[in-house]
Amino acid sequence: MHNGYDCIVIGGGIIGLSCAYQLAKSNKSVLVLERDDIGSGTSGACDHMILLQSKAPGLPLKLAITSLEIYREWQKELPEDVEFATRGGMILIDKPEHIPVMEDFVKRQKSIGLNVEILDKREIKKRQPWVSDHVIASTYSPDDSQINPFRVLFALFQACTKLNVKFMRHEEVVEIIRKPYSWEVRTCTGQSYNSQIVVNAAGVWSAQVSSLVGLELPIRPKRGQIVVTEPIEEIGQTDAWDANYIISKHLSNFERDGVSKKLGLGFAMSRTHSGNYLIGSTREYVGFNKSTTYEAFKAITNRATELFPVFSKVRIIRSFAGLRPACEDGKYVIGEDPSNPGFFIATGHEGDGIALAPITGKLIADLVCGRKPVFEISEISPSRFRRQRISETVKR
Ligand SMILES: Cc1cc2nc3c(=O)[nH]c(=O)nc-3n(C[C@H](O)[C@H](O)[C@H](O)COP(=O)(O)OP(=O)(O)OC[C@H]3O[C@@H](n4cnc5c(N)ncnc54)[C@H](O)[C@@H]3O)c2cc1C
Repeated sequence: MHNGYDCIVIGGGIIGLSCAYQLAKSNKSVLVLERDDIGSGTSGACDHMILLQSKAPGLPLKLAITSLEIYREWQKELPEDVEFATRGGMILIDKPEHIPVMEDFVKRQKSIGLNVEILDKREIKKRQPWVSDHVIASTYSPDDSQINPFRVLFALFQACTKLNVKFMRHEEVVEIIRKPYSWEVRTCTGQSYNSQIVVNAAGVWSAQVSSLVGLELPIRPKRGQIVVTEPIEEIGQTDAWDANYIISKHLSNFERDGVSKKLGLGFAMSRTHSGNYLIGSTREYVGFNKSTTYEAFKAITNRATELFPVFSKVRIIRSFAGLRPACEDGKYVIGEDPSNPGFFIATGHEGDGIALAPITGKLIADLVCGRKPVFEISEISPSRFRRQRISETVKR
């Protein structure tokens, strides 16, 4: 058995690497165990937005605003360029019944401190000259930003290595044993490692990892499909979404047509550093199936040309799908399992993990080091699943 680390992080995605980096910056010795390779999970099959406007007004938005500030620091601090850019974002509204929903959403976001407003048709055309005339209103925030997730993973990996974080790849964690003052973590290759702290950052697989210590986490994969265009000139000044995106994320009961409801389709369009547009995306519960489908391809491209007819002249070069780690109650899961002192969880980010990776790592490092977190985060603590279990048992 290896002599021991202060912390073992399970999972080499963006959340695990952010936790490892911020724990190492707090002078902890850290081992990252990854069953495949760095970025082989959802963090390597996703979009690239630090999107503030999509966050529910409350703790999610507060976390996202702080996370964006940390990304700004990382841009200077990390050893690689992460292609950070602030292009701003617009949520396009083409159905009258969506206006009151978006007005209320914006009002509540403003009360949290987000710089966001509703634009009229003239202002929309100024910022999006190619948008369809069917768009009747739009939100606008100048602060929505983006990074390249692959570059963030690479930069964090480099920064962690400089701080002596050890990485063991192709080491799937298969057993976690509680010792009197530590944890023993066993892997598929027969190795075992000792640590004071274990952080479960295994994304859509975090339920399986938590079950190794007797905690049932209701995390399920929610598939998202994206199509990628050839590199083209900028279409408009900002990235853009439609109100369906907010509705499929937060208000799934809202009235919608057949295919887009079935696929949980919400239009999202953002331009990468290299000029390709990423256009998405779906929200589907299909287990661990990462295939792309023709039905989704058609629905995404139809919606893109409906909102931006110019896309009919643009070639699509590929499509891909990733699995969002979605918690049953729609909330993130960040904190210590009260029944297993020293076992921390950082998951359930669903479609927000790229945006929230910096703040998640910071919260985990603060909790592990006994520092008061910047926000009151009891609502996202894993203790809610223990309480739920106790009340279910009492009811029986
Ligand atoms: C289509 C799509 C678009 C998205 N767009 C955005 C966006 O624009 N902005 C945003 O903020 N978020 C976005 N997201 C969400 C974001 O990608 C995820 O929330 C984030 O990548 C989750 O990161 P993670 O580190 O938790 O999981 P992962 O990246 O999946 O990392 C978990 C790792 O754990 C490893 N692992 C699992 N089990 C074990 C084990 N037993 N032992 C060892 N290792 C193990 C896995 O191999 C994996 O590498 C999008 C997601 C999708 C699918």
